[in-house]
Amino acid sequence: MSGVALAALIRERQPCVVLTGAGVSTESGIPDFRSATGIWAEVDPYQVASIQAFRRDPERVWTFYRERIHVLRDARPNAAHEALAELERRGLVEAVVTQNIDMLHSRAGSQDVVEVHGSFRSAEGLACLWTEPADEVLAQLEVSPTPSCSQCGDVLKPGVVLFGELLPAAAMERATQLARGARLVLVVGSSLEVWPVAGLPLEAPAFAIVNRGPTALDDRALLKVDAGAGETLSAALEAL
Ligand SMILES: [Zn+2]
Repeated sequence: MSGVALAALIRERQPCVVLTGAGVSTESGIPDFRSATGIWAEVDPYQVASIQAFRRDPERVWTFYRERIHVLRDARPNAAHEALAELERRGLVEAVVTQNIDMLHSRAGSQDVVEVHGSFRSAEGLACLWTEPADEVLAQLEVSPTPSCSQCGDVLKPGVVLFGELLPAAAMERATQLARGARLVLVVGSSLEVWPVAGLPLEAPAFAIVNRGPTALDDRALLKVDAGAGETLSAALEAL
């Protein structure tokens, strides 16, 4: 039933912009960093994934992320990613704004993806602002504990937003403009706890939420579906 209700909302309230979080990728076997059983319950992010840690000890940060990159490369898009890509192909989703760094939306075929927390598609030089593509970074990581910049030789920083860093301004600006121009923001798999991204639904006149468990904005949503992203979006797609 909830799939049918969601389908009706998507059809009626165009344009629709999607905002996704970790819950969209858990069915691909990628753990939610912030959950009780997630990675941050075991390791302190400020020791391995903060900008301070990177400046102090880049090797430790890269050791952590090298393992993450391998997990992400083995992961595959799931039914939720596929459904969102299909909705975009049908002209029913304008763009996907994602907090995820796993690139699974792009791999599922979504064309317009705004990665507000960065991704592993590249690494960057902090001083020279050079962007090194992932293939080059991964090749270097095979033979060296840290990758270095092909332009200036400095150690490269992972392309993901580290703790203590600001979100990429251009991506956040685009995400905000998309939300303001939408008649529906569809939140999928995010508990809307991480600001400023959690405020994006409030930029639109209306929003709907598909998430297992409560979110900070449940009582203001047009529709809340407390269920898995894959099953709910597949049902909505079928009803459209
Ligand atoms: Zn450089």
